[in-house]
Amino acid sequence: MAEATELMNEATGLTFEELEHWMGEHQIPRYRARQVWHWMYRKTVREWDAMRNLSAELRAQLAGEFRLRPAECRALEGISGETRKMLVGLADGEAVEAVLIPAADRVTVCVSSQVGCRFRCAFCASGQMGVSRNLTPGEMVGEVLLAIDQIGAHPDNVVFMGMGEPLDNYDALLKALRILNDGEGLAIGARRMTISTCGWVPGIERLKAEGLQVELSVSLHAPDDDLRSRLMPVNRRYPLASLMAACGDYSRVTGRIVTFEYTLIRGLNDRPDQAQAVVRWVRSIGGRVNLIPLSPVPEFSGEAPTPAAVEAFRTVLERGGINTTVRRSKGSEISAACGQLRRRVCGARGDAP
Ligand code: SAH
Repeated sequence: MAEATELMNEATGLTFEELEHWMGEHQIPRYRARQVWHWMYRKTVREWDAMRNLSAELRAQLAGEFRLRPAECRALEGISGETRKMLVGLADGEAVEAVLIPAADRVTVCVSSQVGCRFRCAFCASGQMGVSRNLTPGEMVGEVLLAIDQIGAHPDNVVFMGMGEPLDNYDALLKALRILNDGEGLAIGARRMTISTCGWVPGIERLKAEGLQVELSVSLHAPDDDLRSRLMPVNRRYPLASLMAACGDYSRVTGRIVTFEYTLIRGLNDRPDQAQAVVRWVRSIGGRVNLIPLSPVPEFSGEAPTPAAVEAFRTVLERGGINTTVRRSKGSEISAACGQLRRRVCGARGDAP
């Protein structure tokens, strides 16, 4: 896989301390860093020239050194007030997806962490194209800023559930989390950020030791190793017993309840006895479940579950004492499943238009 190519330094990839350090190195008073930071993250301006309390000279110097917005909105699907999907263009011509999900009392932004994905889950459009590169911290923070442009407010939650496997881009992810979390900037609380993983156990083990309180969401999708390995090749390397042990540790060390995502596929993983097996796994570590009806994709022959099967599955989980939600995928008409918008706009192999 090619590493992310930083064509130019990304302002949104700097921590506050790094920005302050840059000011010091250039004989610029350090308080300027605070001013720039506030323009970037409180006023979320899109141009250096909008930073009116800086001298023209300093603005030009910053513009010569840093790209203020390393991500741009290339296409937007959906209507205001409902789930909207954004195609995010990157400086080297690549593109990823970000999704805005408004609810009654909050707005969630779903961001991508890689261009494509190397884990090749059978039903996921992003995995079909492989991975071409990691996103930089600045690009991930840039996705959130683009969402803010659209929403006109700061998001309440940020979930790393777009394209890519966030724990496979670990260092950049952690840096992005720290920048998003900065109290003088976007100030998104750790508990309001969720990392979704296909079950990359080494990443879960690292994350639990960071002293962060981010939420962990694990894509489960099957309650036995045979089926899970067929749907999710990562299971061959880290089967259910090792995954669940890592999730239990994560929960104990961080005090967070782990959420398990379970995409229901008709006749494959939506039977009541399978729900019962999910209860046993999830109860063993005190987790909860989010059921997602499959959003059909052309490369995968599976179909969405019937509404009755979804209800029956949910009932078994709830009777087993598992806190369960069902994600109503309002978005299938706007290519909501992972990777679908990018493929439609960019072509089957994900080529840039
Ligand atoms: N790599 C991470 C995050 C990206 S995928 C992970 O695996 O968790 C985000 C979620 O969408 C995962 O739970 C994934 O399994 C699910 N997903 C992908 N394609 C889907 C589809 N066609 N229908 C329903 N859910 C899908």
